[in-house]
Amino acid sequence: TTTPAAKAPPKIRDKPVDVVSEYKSRRGGEQSLLNLVVVGHVDAGKSTLMGHVLYLRGNVAQRTMHKYEQESRKMGKQSFMYAWVLDDTEEESVSRGVTVDVAQRVFTTGHRTVTLLDAPGHRDFIPNMITGAARADAAVLVVDASTGEFEAGFESGGQTREHALLVRSLGVSQLVVAINKLDTVDWSEERMKEVRHSLRQFLKGVGYKDIDVTYVPCSGLSGENLVKRTAGEPLSAWYSGPTLLEAIDMLKVPERGIEKPVRICVCDVYKGQGSNMCVSGRLDAGYLQPNDRLLLMPQGDVVNLKNIQTDTQADNVAFAGDHVTLTLSGIDPAALHIGDFLCDPTSPIPLATKVQARIVVFNIVVPLIKGAQLDFHYQSVTEPATIRKLVSQLHKTTGQTLKSRPRALPKNSAGMVELEFSRPLCLELFRDFREMGRFMLRTGGTTIAAGLVTKILD
Ligand code: GDP
Repeated sequence: TTTPAAKAPPKIRDKPVDVVSEYKSRRGGEQSLLNLVVVGHVDAGKSTLMGHVLYLRGNVAQRTMHKYEQESRKMGKQSFMYAWVLDDTEEESVSRGVTVDVAQRVFTTGHRTVTLLDAPGHRDFIPNMITGAARADAAVLVVDASTGEFEAGFESGGQTREHALLVRSLGVSQLVVAINKLDTVDWSEERMKEVRHSLRQFLKGVGYKDIDVTYVPCSGLSGENLVKRTAGEPLSAWYSGPTLLEAIDMLKVPERGIEKPVRICVCDVYKGQGSNMCVSGRLDAGYLQPNDRLLLMPQGDVVNLKNIQTDTQADNVAFAGDHVTLTLSGIDPAALHIGDFLCDPTSPIPLATKVQARIVVFNIVVPLIKGAQLDFHYQSVTEPATIRKLVSQLHKTTGQTLKSRPRALPKNSAGMVELEFSRPLCLELFRDFREMGRFMLRTGGTTIAAGLVTKILD
């Protein structure tokens, strides 16, 4: 740079720990964290299903469940009692005066601590689902197997295809498909096969490998095959595969960049004690200890880390993959916003005004053309972006170039584009930092494409 007096940035910490052995001793390879997003057509039974799983895993007090049962019965809506488990998250957080864009629930399986991203109970749940999808390691796709309903959700206009495609375009390759509400069709094996057949063909077409997809017949309402199967029930007569919980337990946990430089996107901000500020977000890379010095971006201030809280452990330490709440000192509250980033001062996040990206275009009406102005949405950030160039149209699953410099990218296509922003954004390549290089393109509240940053151009 041209400023000779520029001081060397402060080190994040004076004495680094042996992070790998520390991580192993704390995590022991077991109970590794998995971030899961639940997607599917409206009314497919997502909230009921996950609420029931949380209940069966002991995450909901018997007393609370009893209260839900009574209240829902009084209202004549007993079938909603499990869905309330998830809705409650939102109410609680609102009454605490905290805004959460992604409400979280945690449950354990044999080998995993699973963080449920977003609250599928929201009626306007798609924006939340999208935030969740961008942070997910794997997804549960819920489909309603009842007569006519699967077809409605699967046809164009239904969200089944769109959600599966969105999640895949964000780099999520593992999927558990819950073939739900099989109680409504007398646990028909025929129906299960029919639904699975349609889905398998579609999922292959959008780039899921057969071996990364597990199909689980179940009922979120009765609870059958969520965490166990009842002997003598009709399902047991023809199914011996995994339960929903077992299928989730078998998902692979992606490599966490615990030795990489620290990266956190601030997804919530609130006042702490005294002049301290608290932020929450997900630690995308690296690890944190108290007294670490962090660089706030894009502002450029260095702040001190006082305290760390995570969802899953009491220890005052956090590793990549953890959801953290951090207490910071030395910070001007006015300079701190949702969508800011915290990182290692010696390894700041690149600021990009122009990037090359691989995108998948959804079922849009008007094809994407050069000059299109869209909202670029990633982590907790939404910024205007312009498509500066259509570099190529690509084969959706193989990634092969079909056409160079196409005039437009039609619906359900894939392509390489150049995007420009009106201000520099903290972005990384998907290859280097998974969570910091995946994004959605939206217009008027509709998601029209999703993609991965492949090159920073400027
Ligand atoms: P969401 O919009 O996907 O979150 O769906 P909900 O969980 O709110 O469920 C929608 C409706 O389907 C509710 O009336 C549920 O009681 C009902 N439902 C959910 N799961 C099942 C199931 O497994 N069997 C039956 N029969 N109904 C279900």
